[in-house]
Amino acid sequence: MRTVARHGFNRKLVQGLAAAADNTVRIMRQRPIAPGAISALAEREIAAAQLSAGLLPESPEVAGRIVPGLTSGARLLAGLFALARGGGEQGLELPRADGGFDVALAGTVSPGERSLADWWRGMWAALAVGDRFAAQVLASTPLDAIRSPGTSGLPWIEPFVEAVQAMVAGDPQFPGRLRRALEATDPAGLAPTDARTTLDYAVPQIESIYRLFADPSRFGETLAKALELHARYWKARDAEDQDALLPLAFNAIRRLALERGVPVDVTSDYLPAPLAGGPADEPVVCCPYCVTPLLPGMRRCAACLEDTTRDAPLEVPGSELSAPRGRRCTHCAFPLPELAVRCARCRQPAS
Ligand SMILES: [Zn+2]
Ligand SMILES: [Zn+2]
Repeated sequence: MRTVARHGFNRKLVQGLAAAADNTVRIMRQRPIAPGAISALAEREIAAAQLSAGLLPESPEVAGRIVPGLTSGARLLAGLFALARGGGEQGLELPRADGGFDVALAGTVSPGERSLADWWRGMWAALAVGDRFAAQVLASTPLDAIRSPGTSGLPWIEPFVEAVQAMVAGDPQFPGRLRRALEATDPAGLAPTDARTTLDYAVPQIESIYRLFADPSRFGETLAKALELHARYWKARDAEDQDALLPLAFNAIRRLALERGVPVDVTSDYLPAPLAGGPADEPVVCCPYCVTPLLPGMRRCAACLEDTTRDAPLEVPGSELSAPRGRRCTHCAFPLPELAVRCARCRQPAS
């Protein structure tokens, strides 16, 4: 078993930050929540969970906050991108299963109200808690609804988005897309500071995913190396940062490994126990048209935006959602589940 120690940080400061980030109930009760508030609200939900994880294991009472916070944040961000892809006029209800109140989102999302960073935060949080609703909605979101207009960003970012979308949506082109993302991290084409960020931040994430699928027997070794680099990176910077204390990407990748039955021989405070999953094959209720998961009680699908109450919903084994799909949309080439009659990405009828 490999053990990676967490970097040192100021616990008092983190306690204060966690308490400040935790107070989101007032905004959540607004109906509907306007698009301009969603990103910040989701970030606070997720930040409170991440900072709470930093207080483990000495404050075990915070453990119960981690999964609900990340789930709620991931769902809010999936909802934001559902509005961004055209669901704003009719709005979207996100029922809460955890005894909380339902959240209603509505309105047109202006490009400044969503970003690539929102998409990443939502996707990693969704995968870290195994939330198939948020993961599948974010996987089918068109790149045009994700990218911030006018910003080019680092060359690996969009290929990496497409690779993770392909992984989650069962696109058989996933290995090639991941290779393209890794090739785009070549420091030769980057400014020195961008090259540093790329090597410290993106490469360990892409390599961990690559190893998980291509050479699972060495996955633990790669993940441990990535976490050691993470500890070194944040020791030298803002040690109390939320992403420093709980790296969502590595928790997401660890969970993907456990869901696939790949043993993870790494323990670390960076990988808290509440986020460890296991092989998960429980049936998921899905939209009868595009086969994207629905939350219990949800009427409108967050992917194809259809009213799903006119037909009986489908039940699909959880593991099947990311299994390789053999069919593609003839309009946008998105990989389609066998039972889909509508494309989850472009919303056109499947032929
Ligand atoms: Zn649908
Ligand atoms: Zn399509």
